[in-house]
Amino acid sequence: MSEPYVIKMPQLSDTMTEGVVVSWEKNIGDKIERGDIVATVETDKAIMDVEVFREGFLSGPISEVDSVVPVEGAIAYIVASEAEVQKDGAAPVAATTTAMASEEAASEKIDDSGDMPAASNQEPEGTVNTIVMPQLSDTMTEGIVVEWIKSLGDKIERGDIVAQVETDKAIMDVEVFREGYLSGPMTEVDSVVAVGVAMAYLVEKEDQVVKEGAVVQSSGAQSSSSTEEVTSSSSTSSHQIQPAGSSTPAARPNNKYATPLARKIAGQSGIDLNAVQGNGPAGVIVASDVMGSSTLAPAAAGASMLEAPVPGNGRAMNAMEKAISHSMSSSLSMPTFNVTVNAVPTALIKASKKKGVSVTVSIAKACGLAMLKHPTMNWCYQPTDKLVERSNVDIGMAVSADGGGLVVPVLRGCESSSLESMNDEWKELLGRARSRRLKPDEYANPTFMVSNMGMLGVSYFDAIPTPGTAAILAIAAAGTEGMPMTITADHRVVNGAEVALYLNTLKGLIEQPETWMGPTGPAVPEGDWDYDVIVIGGGPGGEDCARDLAAHGMKVAMVNDSPYPGGECLWRGCIPSKAWRAAADKIRDRAHDEHLGVEGTNKAKLNWKKLEKTRKYVLETRGDMALKTDKGVKIKVIQGFARFESDHTLFVDQSGNNDNPHQRAPNGDSSKGEKLSFGCAVIATGAPPFVPPIPGAHDGLTDGAVLTSDTVWGLESVPKRLGVIGGGAIGMEMAQIFQDFGSKVLLLEGQERILAEVEPEIAKHLTAVLNDDQNLTIQTSASVKSIKGKAGAVKLVYTSDDGKDHTFSCDHVIMATGKRPVLEPLQIDKAGIESENGMIKADIRSRTNVPHIFAVGDVIGGLMLAHTAGQQGRVAAATILGEDMTYDQDKDSGVIFTRPEAAFVGLSMDQAKSKGIDAAEVKMPMSIDAKAMITNETHGMIKMVVDKKNHRVVGVHYLADHADTLIGEGVMIVSGDMTLEQVAHAIHPHPTQTEMIGEMARRLLSRLRRSKKK
Ligand SMILES: Cc1cc2nc3c(=O)[nH]c(=O)nc-3n(C[C@H](O)[C@H](O)[C@H](O)COP(=O)(O)OP(=O)(O)OC[C@H]3O[C@@H](n4cnc5c(N)ncnc54)[C@H](O)[C@@H]3O)c2cc1C
Repeated sequence: MSEPYVIKMPQLSDTMTEGVVVSWEKNIGDKIERGDIVATVETDKAIMDVEVFREGFLSGPISEVDSVVPVEGAIAYIVASEAEVQKDGAAPVAATTTAMASEEAASEKIDDSGDMPAASNQEPEGTVNTIVMPQLSDTMTEGIVVEWIKSLGDKIERGDIVAQVETDKAIMDVEVFREGYLSGPMTEVDSVVAVGVAMAYLVEKEDQVVKEGAVVQSSGAQSSSSTEEVTSSSSTSSHQIQPAGSSTPAARPNNKYATPLARKIAGQSGIDLNAVQGNGPAGVIVASDVMGSSTLAPAAAGASMLEAPVPGNGRAMNAMEKAISHSMSSSLSMPTFNVTVNAVPTALIKASKKKGVSVTVSIAKACGLAMLKHPTMNWCYQPTDKLVERSNVDIGMAVSADGGGLVVPVLRGCESSSLESMNDEWKELLGRARSRRLKPDEYANPTFMVSNMGMLGVSYFDAIPTPGTAAILAIAAAGTEGMPMTITADHRVVNGAEVALYLNTLKGLIEQPETWMGPTGPAVPEGDWDYDVIVIGGGPGGEDCARDLAAHGMKVAMVNDSPYPGGECLWRGCIPSKAWRAAADKIRDRAHDEHLGVEGTNKAKLNWKKLEKTRKYVLETRGDMALKTDKGVKIKVIQGFARFESDHTLFVDQSGNNDNPHQRAPNGDSSKGEKLSFGCAVIATGAPPFVPPIPGAHDGLTDGAVLTSDTVWGLESVPKRLGVIGGGAIGMEMAQIFQDFGSKVLLLEGQERILAEVEPEIAKHLTAVLNDDQNLTIQTSASVKSIKGKAGAVKLVYTSDDGKDHTFSCDHVIMATGKRPVLEPLQIDKAGIESENGMIKADIRSRTNVPHIFAVGDVIGGLMLAHTAGQQGRVAAATILGEDMTYDQDKDSGVIFTRPEAAFVGLSMDQAKSKGIDAAEVKMPMSIDAKAMITNETHGMIKMVVDKKNHRVVGVHYLADHADTLIGEGVMIVSGDMTLEQVAHAIHPHPTQTEMIGEMARRLLSRLRRSKKK
């Protein structure tokens, strides 16, 4: 018969010392699989699942529902065969926290030095629960009783706070999870009690209450019972276990358990429990394993011997003084060095003031941002010979506590949290830090530390890093050479060059806060410029930017190489393609008429010439309207092709101007034109279609066999057969439009899937739906070999995913193989503007590397969409005006105008997870919607992605007819940071498809509620 596996009360939070069994999800004798949830337990914060990762059969003795079991105490067992199952019910150990269930704990008698106490001999009759000094942080070994909130004899309910205790860092509540009457013997206020030692008791009946307030185990550090000699079974040496408070228990080992005593000894001896073999039941590491460990460091074990005798009558340190002293002594094991760099903080102080945030928080944010570039600064050494690599930057900043001493609250997520939220959090932490009322997770485990003594007029100092961090930054007062920033770093983790580079990045962030904090004032530099701002390009990005600037009274010129504004969107993109789509929709809708009993309308015929007339009319009318508006709002509209001559001048080449609004102006020679100077410039020059070097593709462009999104608008008639290369939005839309117009279409995509920007399941379903279209074939994983022949007789040669070669005969091939900016003619290098992978580099405030030059829209890459360009244009204008506005791609949206339409806003599940969001998803098929059934538009689904932590909706994805309208609600939900609760409570009108959104929110809420309960 094999050793049974012990299912233990798990430690589900740092503060949890015991849990209440809420329910058993499996019965004794049930077959258990890995990952099964066998029970739920109530911790100090929530009801949580107990999952097991062993196969077998659930066996008794099991703890009764409602019983309180200490962390690590057995609640049941798993045995290998059904025959070994013990049917007995309650485990005798479960009644109170005073008993340890696991055998090894009992045999080690860790009553006064471990996490859990053994029964005290002062326990009154009828005791149902011993209230012990809880371990409220990893470093806590004892606490001081500050106040008894309840009195002897009081009736105690589950969850009542009975007392407050002071740990080494804060004053905290002692909560109990049992019912009963508060009984003595009770520790006195101000007495020091070791972790795990009884402070008072709960008895079952009122008449069992012991009224004496006799002191129990007070001053645990001196208590004789807190010292015990443990003899190793595997070695002859014996170790004196130090009094409580003399050392920090070792960190819990990964994926195994260690008894509290084992942790304590390991902590005292500097042993890494990961390196110790556990020989206790179920592989638990027990004290004897640690004592026999070859990793026992003699130097560390004898560290206390290094203390030199000092004359005088010392008073005992208080808990906080002791904590600081131990932490500082343990830092002596770090091989450290110092590096200093000076930074001028004036701009940071000004920017912080403007934003209404504390300079300390701004420095923490700058440290976090610099860490993204130099992540090793955020790592730490772990005994023995390990490095902990971390991505979350949690910065501890020292604060003086009222009445003396230092407290170090930790600002978490400094690399990703917004400055505003960090500032709010800091204010909150600061108040409680001063009065020493921080909770353990508010001061535990910083990954980096900052000590700012600038306000004390200190001209230079360095600080001491503590184990668990690689470095500490000491900031002194600013002098003539700036503010000295000194890093003391652990050489096992970082070297001098790394620290120097980090400090230089930090200096840059402190001296140029506008690069990450937003503008501190208008960006137009002083000077006698022809224009405050020149915007290059009259598409959605340039035009929206110019209009916002003009509306704020700026002198703005917009240089565009066409007679009318509108850019690609109006003349070659969104609008003309949607005119074609509208005609194709009518043809489709007519085919649906019969489903509703409307007959005689389903044989639609396209009149291409009339459609083209309408399309051109819309474009020209809108172009004319836009130009009039631009001039009306006092934008100087200049026709010509701009190129930079310096970082404040450009030349507008007007030699190639033509009057055809449907054609892009050619770049003529530079003889005719004008030179203009500007305070700021905004580049919004777009990205024309890119044609890859497929044999025959470029030759085909000249004679019209090969078309792009620039030239497709010149088609004289609907092609009978059409090849489309590229499964992005433009290719998919074109392919389906022409299939609806009657062409036989083959679409080839090189990747395994179409529409890379669309949520994977939506894209997959859309492919299946489109492949059902009679005249449209989509071939993914295809490789195009060549394009041969003339317009009307083209041969498109390709290899399909099975490796076979094919030839598709068609009239034209549309290359929809992406768009790429053309930067050379713009001569950005003359202005010192940087590009990356062929795109101009711009940040979330649309700034290039040149502080007064901005770039927006397709020319900077990312989502190449008209509303994206427009938003970035408005962001550039705001930044130039000195306002704080950023572009957030995580809230951007898009629609693929196929039938059904694919649409998205925000993040997919995969994207959310890659950003560290614990996400959940809910989806609903369109086929269950009444409106969709009525109109026979049942293809597709809606999906919603939610952050489980705060219930914020982070993404909504559609595959549905009318998704272009439905997405509007998703956009408002995501951009407004709405929660599931808000969406669920919104009253959606009936019968509309927007009701699905409310229904999905309610469904997911219910699921999250249930899974939380389990
Ligand atoms: C077929 C098709 C369909 C599309 N459908 C959609 C859609 O449904 N929804 C959507 O959101 N997006 C759609 N787009 C994308 C959209 O058109 C672009 O994302 C958007 O137009 C980009 O705006 P922009 O301001 O960055 O550049 P553009 O609109 O390209 O404007 C740039 C302007 O600057 C001019 N220019 C360039 N260089 C210079 C210079 N040196 N001097 C002066 N002028 C210069 C250009 O000629 C152009 O007029 C579609 C695109 C295509 C091709």
